[in-house]
Amino acid sequence: MNLALYLQRTATANPNAPAVYSGTQLQLNYGELLQRTTALAGYLKHAFGVKPGDRVAIYAANCVEYLEILHAILWIGAVSVPVNYKLHNKELDYVLADCEARVLIVSQALSACTDNLANPPAHILIPGSPEYGQALQHAGAPMYDCGPDELASLFYTSGTTGRPKGVMQSHGNLQAMTVSYLTDVDTSDPADVMVYAAPMSHGAGLYNYVHMLSGARHLVPLSGGFEPAELAELAASMGRLTFFAAPTMVKRLLDYVIDSGADVSGFKTIVYGGGPMYVEDIQQALPVFGPRFVQIYGQGECPMAITALARHHLADATHPNWKERIASVGLPQSMVDVRVINAKGAPLDAGEIGEVAVRGAPVMQGYWRNEAATQKTLRDGWLLTGDTGFLDRNGFLTLHDRSKDLIISGGSNIYPREVEEVLLTHANVSEVAVVGQLDAEWGEVPVAFVVTRKGCTVEESELDRLCLDNLARFKRPKHYHIISALPKNSYGKVLKTELRQRLSTINI
Ligand code: ATP
Repeated sequence: MNLALYLQRTATANPNAPAVYSGTQLQLNYGELLQRTTALAGYLKHAFGVKPGDRVAIYAANCVEYLEILHAILWIGAVSVPVNYKLHNKELDYVLADCEARVLIVSQALSACTDNLANPPAHILIPGSPEYGQALQHAGAPMYDCGPDELASLFYTSGTTGRPKGVMQSHGNLQAMTVSYLTDVDTSDPADVMVYAAPMSHGAGLYNYVHMLSGARHLVPLSGGFEPAELAELAASMGRLTFFAAPTMVKRLLDYVIDSGADVSGFKTIVYGGGPMYVEDIQQALPVFGPRFVQIYGQGECPMAITALARHHLADATHPNWKERIASVGLPQSMVDVRVINAKGAPLDAGEIGEVAVRGAPVMQGYWRNEAATQKTLRDGWLLTGDTGFLDRNGFLTLHDRSKDLIISGGSNIYPREVEEVLLTHANVSEVAVVGQLDAEWGEVPVAFVVTRKGCTVEESELDRLCLDNLARFKRPKHYHIISALPKNSYGKVLKTELRQRLSTINI
């Protein structure tokens, strides 16, 4: 079954229902969205000769056209390759060469990049150009009838742990993800407004399938992304806003709401994930936002669908295990089996720390033309996530860190997140990242990068005291670097690799 069927069914049943907004302005109803999609599909097929399985890359910031482009590619059985629009030209070139894109669809604002590509695809199409206008008038193409394992998308990992790899997501994987979201994470209906506040080239774009199936409204903010003041205004004028936010965005939105006194009743659901949410931060956000949060844990290799921490688990502060629960990433979702395993692959008991492994319908087909990485990651049907953590007796999964971030000091394991949670309890500390620094005596020692709250200062001795009062001595950072901001990628994830590089190259 082709994933584009969701759009087709919704549009056929309710062609006049509102579909796509730019800010508060309605741009397309579902009938129009379907018409543009099929016409564009016809153009890709007949004018550019795109065949099932061909890769079509999209290099654009969030825009109204994003949804018709994604669906047109699916419609003819081609494979979408959404590329982060903040990537450097060289990185874009790498992705285009790696996937051998036949077509590049690039926004007007970024189109200058095509002059410098070492690996230009055979065809380039620019939304908003006269050619794009013609494409939207083209005769439609029939929908490609595909099997569940056929590729829908190549999803390049954001590269926080190395060179991006193309994760092969099939139509079946993304359908399982969609059903899993509606079963385990949240409802969606035509009155809801899905806001693309995070890049559509990454996780946020995947949410479109859920809200396409339910016939919800899709909204691209005028800012193109995450602006707390704009979101608060949209919540007030449109209501029933749902969006995905990385934990750092939740923090920014919280600060804005506290400072401005903005009304939060127009927010329906804030789904957070993609990186650790610290207990301190969620504890501050819950009383302000009420039961509006859901957490998901996923990765490109099993999109959105590993575990979810439900609204009621987050909001029920009276539960005796509430603190442990809000520190967890919740319960396994319906479409997957989740285990914590040791280095030999054997399942561990509740409370024992190991690598998180997952099996089920949303798990990727493998890495694009990278058999070695696929074999390392998919073993006996299980996806090895590279994340460490433990399952408790009630089945809740708590993540520690990515195995690459684990610090081994004098033979003892230090999980950076545990140290970060302690440092974040200091009233003047806003953000923290703990990484390992090479050390002649211990192998590695923990070092903390600390960002203070606006207008506040903090003494190293206070931080040290806090750690000594709460942690084993060997876990306390050997150095503290107070910096103005943590390096983050465009999805708001802290780049620990960059912090480790800084430690090895410069004296901060
Ligand atoms: P790369 O694989 O290239 O390093 P990446 O880490 O950004 O890139 P993604 O698929 O974007 O890859 O992110 C998935 C990772 O994000 C997970 O493996 C996990 O480490 C982290 N993550 C996702 N959701 C959560 C969550 N709810 N809590 C903590 N960490 C999370």
